[in-house]
Amino acid sequence: MAELRIDPQRCRGCGLCTEGCATGALSMADKVAVVNDNCVFCGVCVQNCPFEAISIAQDRQIVNDVTAYQNVWVFTQINQGEIAPVSLELLGIGATLAQEKRCQLVAVVLEETGADYAQTLIAHGADRVLLCQEAALTVYNQDRCATILGDMIGQYKPEILLFGATGFGRALAPSVAALVKTGLTADCTVLAVDGETGLLRQTRPAFGGNLMATIVCPDCRPQMATVRPGVMAKCAPDTARVGAVEVFVPTVAAGVSKVTVLETTLRQTANAITGAEKLVVVGRGIGGKKNMKLVYEFAEKIGAQVAVSRPLVDMGYAPYAQQVGQTGCTVAPKLLISLGVSGAIQHKAGISRAEQIIAINTDEEAPIFAISQYKIVADCVEILKGFV
Ligand SMILES: Cc1cc2nc3c(=O)[nH]c(=O)nc-3n(C[C@H](O)[C@H](O)[C@H](O)COP(=O)(O)OP(=O)(O)OC[C@H]3O[C@@H](n4cnc5c(N)ncnc54)[C@H](O)[C@@H]3O)c2cc1C
Repeated sequence: MAELRIDPQRCRGCGLCTEGCATGALSMADKVAVVNDNCVFCGVCVQNCPFEAISIAQDRQIVNDVTAYQNVWVFTQINQGEIAPVSLELLGIGATLAQEKRCQLVAVVLEETGADYAQTLIAHGADRVLLCQEAALTVYNQDRCATILGDMIGQYKPEILLFGATGFGRALAPSVAALVKTGLTADCTVLAVDGETGLLRQTRPAFGGNLMATIVCPDCRPQMATVRPGVMAKCAPDTARVGAVEVFVPTVAAGVSKVTVLETTLRQTANAITGAEKLVVVGRGIGGKKNMKLVYEFAEKIGAQVAVSRPLVDMGYAPYAQQVGQTGCTVAPKLLISLGVSGAIQHKAGISRAEQIIAINTDEEAPIFAISQYKIVADCVEILKGFV
């Protein structure tokens, strides 16, 4: 937890802090600044105060000996008996990081039947599989999973810990980070080892996707990040790989869970698009909802799935599950045909792993052309009519 501290001895009541506060968290009482719950600890007031009367106190657990922390860990999510694809994708990037750090890649599985998945995880790059096979872990028991991961981290001291940014991963990762008092960077699009410091460089879109921020966690361990499905590439599985399997017995007893899972249902989303080899992506240039019929007919003819840009979801042309981009799905098709999409940075964030992009746009300066292998300056509706 952070705390904004105001030193009443130093504060002169000049008001520079209240003027510069974007969240309205500061006000004056008896010529001394006071803070309310709106404070987001951005630090602007600390910089604005000419009298050094404001400071931010962080309750961080600074690790004195960061060298005691080693190895790259990937949390393996099991969905109704299957390894979530994002976990295998994390092993892909995890293997690269482990190679650069010259350490081991460890897949962590919290599942009663975890041993069943070990060979697949090893084939996808894990050097070691760490299993906790407690019965209660077969369902999405978030607080118990967080406790066990905290227990494992305390004993094994991993340097890096990665989670898929699935619904469960997004809930579990912050619980673990809070428990072990470290940082967490959500929705990373690039992970790399800094050549000089050896720190994990965690890059993600910031300020509405208008810039890419690279975040490091120098003082706390493990360095934790989540990555959305489809962002990283899996390693080609090598069934001949050999790795160690180790069973972990928690030292922390199971308490009363705050959550009771009554039933688990896998939501059937249209995420045919995340695994699609051919994708037709439609943007506002399609002109009207009636033209979506042409799109679907064309897609069917070439055996492709249909995805859309965000405005089309907002306008009700397609469900959210078909949106690609920063706030939608990340896709990696072999062929992507982009129809009437401008290519905003937030849109490109979801399609940059497509192997071949054919873009059709009436504007020859459209940014989508910058990442396209084939550029067609034309009316996409007229082109569709010629095909269907
Ligand atoms: C925080 C945040 C998150 C966002 N997340 C996403 C996201 O996940 N996904 C996403 O897509 N967007 C996202 N956006 C929105 C994004 O910034 C763009 O506004 C959006 O991608 C634009 O969609 P578009 O290209 O379909 O529409 P437009 O930008 O309106 O572009 C339409 C294009 O069609 C072309 N055109 C017009 N008529 C024709 C025609 N007849 N034939 C061919 N071309 C034609 C035009 O030249 C133009 O280039 C996000 C924005 C923010 C701020």
